[in-house]
Amino acid sequence: MVSKTTTETLTDKKSRVRKIITRLKRTYPDAQCSLRHNNPYQLMVSTILSAQCTDERVNMVTPELFARFPTPGKMAAAPIEEIEELIRSTGFYRNKAKSIKNNAIMLLSDFGGEIPRTLADLVKLPGVGRKTASVVLGAGFGLAEGVVVDTHVVRISRLLGLTENKTPEKIERDLIEILPKKDWILWTHLIIDHGRAVCVARRPKCPECPLCKLCPSAIL
Ligand code: SF4
Repeated sequence: MVSKTTTETLTDKKSRVRKIITRLKRTYPDAQCSLRHNNPYQLMVSTILSAQCTDERVNMVTPELFARFPTPGKMAAAPIEEIEELIRSTGFYRNKAKSIKNNAIMLLSDFGGEIPRTLADLVKLPGVGRKTASVVLGAGFGLAEGVVVDTHVVRISRLLGLTENKTPEKIERDLIEILPKKDWILWTHLIIDHGRAVCVARRPKCPECPLCKLCPSAIL
């Protein structure tokens, strides 16, 4: 059982997080990115669309969007009004359409139409921040240059006592120090599944949580 009062050393925290990961992998063996995509370009566009929107909603609009404009070349040439119409239900559709079109234009002009494979280059693209870049590198190319920190990861990493910080940037730094690098990508998918199934925001189901003996926030 994890005490709420003792100060845990970094070594202890690393050991505890390994046990957490083992249990999460056992509980969510199919954890993966829930944005449907066939290639890193589609993943990047879907991730841009997922801002302030559910993955389910994004998955409803992308089949038609990618059928009409499957490549950066086609997206760059697409009339902005058509992109807007296709993505309207994801919210903030004017800004998102502008980002997606300008993103495609820059992919063509600066990167030969290829998705860059470094965080530094990805964040130069319109609509792509550090989080989207990490999603593309991780789920698109299997490259871990960071840990994707979404709202589930913020909340549950804090509940698990792995960070006391509140901003995604600082939380990512803490997680990078604690998590084994080979699990940086999977961590986000495991925690999102856990946040949807058990550690739900309104009322975490601690008594049935596989992490209850490893979590300082468990209420049993
Ligand atoms: S024990 Fe409770 S607070 Fe901790 S991870 Fe599980 S559900 Fe969340």
